[in-house]
Amino acid sequence: SSIVAIVGRPNVGKSTFFNRLIQRREAIVDSVSGVTRDRNYGKSEWNGKEFSVIDTGGYIKGSDDVFEGEIRRQVELAIDEADAIVFVVDVTEGITPMDEEVAKLLRKVTKPIFLAVNKVDSGSREKDAFEFYNLGLGEYFTMAGMSGSGTGDLLDALVLALPDAQEPEEDVVELPRFAVVGRPNAGKSSFINALIGEDRYIVTDIAGTTRDSIDTPYNRFGFEFNLVDTAGIRRKAKVKEDLEFYSVMRSVRAIEHSDVCILMIDATRGFEGQDQSIFWLAEKNRKGIVILVNKWDLVEKETMTTVQFEKKIREMTAPFTDVPIIFTSTITKQRLLKALETAVKVHETRKRRIPTSKFNETMLPIIEQTPPPAIKGKYIKIKYCMQLPTPTPQFVFFANLPQYVKDPYKRYIENKLREIYDFNGVPIDIYFRQK
Ligand code: GDP
Repeated sequence: SSIVAIVGRPNVGKSTFFNRLIQRREAIVDSVSGVTRDRNYGKSEWNGKEFSVIDTGGYIKGSDDVFEGEIRRQVELAIDEADAIVFVVDVTEGITPMDEEVAKLLRKVTKPIFLAVNKVDSGSREKDAFEFYNLGLGEYFTMAGMSGSGTGDLLDALVLALPDAQEPEEDVVELPRFAVVGRPNAGKSSFINALIGEDRYIVTDIAGTTRDSIDTPYNRFGFEFNLVDTAGIRRKAKVKEDLEFYSVMRSVRAIEHSDVCILMIDATRGFEGQDQSIFWLAEKNRKGIVILVNKWDLVEKETMTTVQFEKKIREMTAPFTDVPIIFTSTITKQRLLKALETAVKVHETRKRRIPTSKFNETMLPIIEQTPPPAIKGKYIKIKYCMQLPTPTPQFVFFANLPQYVKDPYKRYIENKLREIYDFNGVPIDIYFRQK
């Protein structure tokens, strides 16, 4: 899906707007580069169109001054990486010099820009909003982020401007799309180079050029796959956090475009907060996941065994604990093919359809043996279940009182399903519905 970035100076109401957009969904990542910044990511949906939202509002914590350069960088990031930009301004303050700066940057951009004049909660404020025509960005939307009024019109226009998701063609056998994601320096490029040799990653150095995700087909070592290459931008970031943020933005796009995410972590650094963020980003997007613990050649085997390492990752990815973990080295070429093989397997699992009769034969006896606990003397009966014909594995269980089925039971069923059908590395959804 597409990426929408929210930009603007602090306190204009970006976060309120962001929270409204992702109301019914969790924020995917709360804090990205940890110590210094908060940046919010979430999935949103309007008129049936899904998109990711990034609140670029992060600023250096503990300092009230937000430097102009800081905001400028946020906007430049948004311009490079997002499909559409919402620029939020505050009617109670009018146009500030910083708004003018931002508008100047945005005027040069050909991507859809939406000027949102916030805190318009009365008729006289509507008139005050006229002034924002002076920003030279054309039509604006007024809204009151707090009450949510006006946001509907803005969202209607916004989703119309977003590119349609490509519907996969039914008859075409689709190659698995693999995205290699992870923090800078984990060894992603080395991995890709080791696998595909002379067809090296093509890297552009031209600032401001964005290449959309590109699927590059490969047929190597008996595997056929598309590599999701979103490394269009490799611009030298001046600030370390910017580099991290670029990598996150790139990851967001790559993940969304993929079937399976190969999450590469640096064994010498361990599985850290940002690795965890990327992991949940892939999980929330219902992508297949394989974790590669790379640079394993550098790890003293006495001090850190695979068992210990795995345990730590399992703790940080609980309760999704059946993701394949592979210890690799791009230098010694250790288990690189195994990594590819595993990614193919995860992809096949994710596309698998379990025939309904078989599914019922397997699951109904399990449910009969351990039914959902009765609530207020009412027994919950499940008589029928099936896998839905969806792009990712989803299962529905038809019950007389689906509203009484609680999360622990749902988890129990999920665990059973994972155990029996071996859904390693594949997020699944389970629903209980009225029959
Ligand atoms: P990327 O930013 O994730 O694409 O990381 P790179 O592929 O550019 O690798 C970063 C650095 O780590 C380079 O100096 C690589 O040579 C080194 N590196 C990558 N993989 C391995 C590995 O398996 N073992 C060792 N020892 N070094 C590695």
